[in-house]
Amino acid sequence: MFVFKFGGASVKDAGAVQNVASILARFPEKPILLVVSAMGKSTNLLEEIAHHISLGKKEEAQKGIQLFGSFHLKILNQLFPEKEHPVFAHYEEIMENLERKLEARFSENFHFEYDQLVSLGEVMSSRILDAFLRESGFRSSWLDARKLIRTDHQYRDANVDWNRTEQLIRDRCEQVYPETLIAVTQGFIGHTEEGFTTTLGREGSDYTAGIFAYCLNAEQVTIWKDVPGMLNADPKFFKGTVKLDKISFKEAIELAYYGASVIHPKTIKPLQNKNIPLYVRSFVNPDEEGTIIQSSPDFDQLVPSYIFKRRQILFSVMPKDFSFLVEENLSDIFRVLSTIGGKINMMQNSALSFSFVLDQEKTDIEELRKLFDQDYTVRFNKDLELLTIRHYDQKTIDRLTEQKELLVQQKTRHTMRILMKDL
Ligand code: ASP
Ligand code: MG
Repeated sequence: MFVFKFGGASVKDAGAVQNVASILARFPEKPILLVVSAMGKSTNLLEEIAHHISLGKKEEAQKGIQLFGSFHLKILNQLFPEKEHPVFAHYEEIMENLERKLEARFSENFHFEYDQLVSLGEVMSSRILDAFLRESGFRSSWLDARKLIRTDHQYRDANVDWNRTEQLIRDRCEQVYPETLIAVTQGFIGHTEEGFTTTLGREGSDYTAGIFAYCLNAEQVTIWKDVPGMLNADPKFFKGTVKLDKISFKEAIELAYYGASVIHPKTIKPLQNKNIPLYVRSFVNPDEEGTIIQSSPDFDQLVPSYIFKRRQILFSVMPKDFSFLVEENLSDIFRVLSTIGGKINMMQNSALSFSFVLDQEKTDIEELRKLFDQDYTVRFNKDLELLTIRHYDQKTIDRLTEQKELLVQQKTRHTMRILMKDL
């Protein structure tokens, strides 16, 4: 069994859906579990609709729903000239579901309502893909991930109940294979024990692929992307990036942790646990090999990789009475950060102060200051960049820090981290 994941960009229009079918045709007679994201940018659109509804902006919400409808209808009309095709009934059903959300008022639990609504993007794309594959002669079935991936009640960031999920997935797949060769399911979504829909966090479809692969003991997972594989830097910002041909699970986790956005960070662990290799390949050039992520670390050090986190803010907190910073202070500080859901990107301490770096966009400076105000003085420094270089060398450091003022530097054997700003 192979698990394939196709993201939003790989199904953004009718031509893209046809391309998915042509990729699948390269693997005749191979049982495939296919995980698909919502088409194009439709998750962003659904997110906006959810916000409009919750704010009572009915007209805006209505406009959004129309846009969502016309976007998918155009794709459907191009793929299915036969207007009586059953896929149109699925389309109508999803649209009616959305319209109903306009009429009913949202409950106070926005995260819950968000998941019930935003998950429909994946339901739509998986319906379209499954129908198109069958129309094109594949032995395909549609699987409802809302009945297979069991989670807790943490809406928008749900945690998987692995035992239950494994049982549900195995039972269902035993029924559908081998009659079916390709089972199409949705990324990103799951369900609670009561049957409410949950989501696994934005960009969570990669993780879904990891979950299915784990539960089915798949031979491999392939994530099909619009880049040739994992690169040593983000090609949006840098020229001359190189592809990492082969890296270890551990290296992939490190890169994802420091901010490389190619794969969702939670994806690797289930694969590593069962030693299932993960391929990242291009859906534009499917002849190319892409990157393979597997257990051996032998190839990790071949190329320095670097990752930038932009718009960072550095805080320094100092006890007001100039006492030494001791463990009690640190536990105070972490408690405050955990109450505001702050995610520390870098930290450092000295005798009199503790410094930490957060994403500027996600941080309310005044709130933070207030929370510390009684016992600590707080200073901050905005608009910084945090650079991480894995397997650094001097040449790379010099090139990336040119014209920068360096505020904090941390170095271990494999990783160099530099907090800096433009000169
Ligand atoms: N469609 C969801 C999102 O855009 C999940 C995913 O694409 O992985 O966040
Ligand atoms: Mg997406």
